[in-house]
Parts: sequence; structure tokens; C-alpha cells
Amino acid sequence: MPEPFTDSATSPLPEAGEAGPEVAIVGAGPAGLLLGLLLGQRGRRVLLIEREPAPEPSPGNGICPILQPATLGVLDGLGLLPDLAKNTTPVTHGEVSAGGSTVAAYAYADLPAAPVAYALPVSITQLRDVLTDAVRRTPGVDIVYEATVHGLPERDGEDPGLRGVRLETGEGTRTLHPSLVVGCDGKRSAVREMAGISSEVKAFPRGYLELRVPMPAFWGGVMRAFFTADGYMLGTPIADGQLLFVWITGPEQAERATGGELSALVDRYAEGVPEAADWIRAHTHGWDQIREFPHHIVRPERWVAGNVLLVGDSAHGVHVYGGQGLNLSLQDAACLAEACDEALARSDSAPLKRFEQKRRPFVSAFQDMQEAHLRALAARNPQGGGQSSGSGDPSSGSGNPSSGSGDRSSGGGGHLPDFAPLALGQPEIRETLARAAHLPGPGR
Ligand SMILES: Cc1cc2nc3c(=O)[nH]c(=O)nc-3n(C[C@H](O)[C@H](O)[C@H](O)COP(=O)(O)OP(=O)(O)OC[C@H]3O[C@@H](n4cnc5c(N)ncnc54)[C@H](O)[C@@H]3O)c2cc1C
Repeated sequence: MPEPFTDSATSPLPEAGEAGPEVAIVGAGPAGLLLGLLLGQRGRRVLLIEREPAPEPSPGNGICPILQPATLGVLDGLGLLPDLAKNTTPVTHGEVSAGGSTVAAYAYADLPAAPVAYALPVSITQLRDVLTDAVRRTPGVDIVYEATVHGLPERDGEDPGLRGVRLETGEGTRTLHPSLVVGCDGKRSAVREMAGISSEVKAFPRGYLELRVPMPAFWGGVMRAFFTADGYMLGTPIADGQLLFVWITGPEQAERATGGELSALVDRYAEGVPEAADWIRAHTHGWDQIREFPHHIVRPERWVAGNVLLVGDSAHGVHVYGGQGLNLSLQDAACLAEACDEALARSDSAPLKRFEQKRRPFVSAFQDMQEAHLRALAARNPQGGGQSSGSGDPSSGSGNPSSGSGDRSSGGGGHLPDFAPLALGQPEIRETLARAAHLPGPGR
């Protein structure tokens, strides 16, 4: 377990006359931390600005995303995988069922050139702790906590479009003038707004429903997806010896299922996952095992505006279906460290724009696929109603996570994303990810 992070006797903010950061990253979440770490390894001076207090290292009982091999390869190259693999169960196989039969099955070991042969459920707090610890061992990278960004003022007498960062900390208000300002401040990004980047936001009336039970021995390291009459259920091992069931359904079904007795909701889960029906019934005792997480899809009009760049959820909020939000965010950060370094060396944002041109169609196609899936779910809701108000057909451009062998029907009315791009990452960025993975890491 890393040491507590609250040791900062000296301020991480530059004194008058000291060289300020070359890059200010707003948000010390997973994307901001990884980007800061990789830029620090390239010798850049970086300041991470986080509005929350410095975290106490915690074993984590929050959300538990599943990191795919493409992302794990980067973290492994940094020497961070052993710490992340503690207290969790690797997922080695996946299965998809519809109408009682298996419609797809895959094994991570069968993927050609996968950096590791499994996916890893990791608690988001554990990931934050491991990345924060690595950042703190990286010269040139500082984090200021409990700091709020109030504005991105345009610099007097310089090219229009170049912005600084005005922030307030316990020490007062400061304005910094980094060469790059990076918004890693999540789906509701203030940086996005302050930079004047408008976005299309699609909110869903109900979130997805989670049930956690203890992990039974019979389940194994398998992620099992089930298309049911009125929704989609996913059962997967997560950290701390738990088995997570996610249910994505229409708003009316969610309302009915959560508005009555717990036993009625337990029945829905048990019917959805026949393999574990008895286990679910025996091990669900209270509403505290159920949680609902809202989701919305965010599509900003652009990711780069002057010297401001959006990375991670601030650049592309996705729905949880397909489990890619964190993977996309960390893969963006890994690729953008190289692009930011080049942009700084040349005083030119062209490398950042090139990344956006390569990456945005892929992410956008993934969002389209999610919306198509949610529309399909809504359409077969016997009670009517829908989760998505989206219109238009899913795109099928190259590198599209829903193309390749096609945006396949599950046989139950849903859409299955292709496995390989989810596991291995967008084909066009795999080389960059491999390079990011081989930088000298703080753990070695
Ligand atoms: C229930 C749930 C399940 C999920 N499951 C998966 C999964 O299986 N697989 C997957 O890949 N993804 C999953 N995700 C998505 C994943 O958690 C996010 O995509 C990921 O956390 C995005 O990282 P980020 O660093 O871009 O943003 P965030 O994690 O949102 O971090 C943003 C940081 O910025 C800080 N901040 C915000 N505003 C400011 C400000 N104005 N000033 C300073 N700091 C600020 C915040 O405090 C935070 O530390 C899931 C999400 C949820 C909610």
C-alpha cells in the first residue's frame, strides 16, 4: 500500500521567478495522472490541479472498471501491474448468451499479440492510488490538491487562443501560464466549458443497476453477458472477492424493479443469469448490495482549441455498455504524452490535432454503437419507453469497434461490439501504445 499522500510541506505552485509548469493538467483522475506521469518521464515540468483533497490510500469499494489488455500493456510497461493485480481476479474468458444459447465465446489467450492474456477488474481508487504513488516518484511532476480552476484567461499581447489557468487554492488566487492546458476533469469538464468548446450531451433517464455478491468458486475468471427479454446483464468477477452483475434495461423496467420489494429485483437478476440463480438468491440480503449509476454520452465539437486539449472523459463521455470509458481515457493519455511532447518541442499543436483526427472517428463510432444498442433494447421493451433519444444509424467507418466482423446482432435484439478492438485497442494507435509501454517506468 502506498504511503499517505498528504505530506506536502512546501507548495507545489511555482514561486515568483521560478519556472512554471510547461503543462497544467486539470484533474488528477486516471487520465490526468497517467498523462502527467508519462510527460514527467519525458522530462516535462507538469502541474496536476485537483479540486478534491489529497486522497488517503484506500483498498477501494467504489466502481471497479475492467482494464483491457491494451491498457494493461501500458501499465505493465510502467511497472505498475503487480500492484494493480492485488486483490482481484483476472478475466481470461468471455461468453455471450441469448435465448438460452451461447452466441459468442472468446478467450484472451487467443488474441494475436495481446500484451497480456487477460483483462483485469481494478478498483478505481486502487488505480488512483497506484498512479498517484508513481507520479510522486517522478521528478518534475507536482500535484496541487483542493485547487479550483476559475478561468482560462487569454494571455495579453500573445496570439489569441493561447490561454493560462487561473486557480484558487488555500494560498489565494494564482494565474499560471503553461504552454499547454489539459482538461482531464471528467465528463462534466469545466475546462471544456471555459475553453468555449460546445458539446452534444445525451443523458439517459435511468442509470444501470449493479448487484454485488460474494464470488462463488464455480464462476471462474469469466465475464458472462446475457441478453434477456428486456435487457442486458453482465456478470463479472471484480476486486475483493466479489461478483458483479450489471443490468441495463429500459427506464420503466428499472422503475418497476427498484420501486417494489428487494425480492422482486433479485428475481429479475436470477432469471437473467440462470447459471447463478441460486447463488444470487442466497447471497442478496439488502438494498446496500444494489447501486444505480447514471450515464450520459458527451461528444464535444473538438478536442483541441488553441493550447487547450481535452483528454479522457472530458473529451468523450461514453455509456458503460462495453466497459470502455476508462480504457479509452488511459489509452488517450498514453498516446497524447508523445503528441504533447512533440507539440511542446515544436511549439505547434499539429501533433495534438493529428491524434484527434485519428482517434475521434473511432470513439464516435463506439458511441454510435452504444446508442444503437440502447435503441434496440428500448424497441423490444414490451412495456414501451426507451433509454435513448438518439437518431441516425451507427457509423461503420474503418477501425470502428462495431465493424470488422460487423455490428453483430446478439440474436436477442442487441448489438455486440467486436471483441478485438475492445481488448487490443484501436488498430491505428497500437504502435504508439507499445512505445508508451516501453518508456522507463518509476517502478524499475
Ligand atoms: C459505475 C461505473 C462503471 C464503470 N465501468 C467501467 C469499465 O468497466 N470499464 C471502463 O473502461 N470504464 C468504466 N467506467 C468509466 C471510467 O470510470 C471513466 O471513464 C474514467 O474514470 C475516466 O477517467 P478520467 O480521468 O477521464 O475522468 P475522472 O475519473 O472523472 O477524473 C476526473 C478528475 O478531475 C477532477 N476534477 C473535476 N473537475 C475539476 C475541476 N474543475 N478542477 C480540478 N479538478 C477537477 C475530479 O475530482 C477527478 O479527480 C465506469 C464508470 C462508472 C461510473
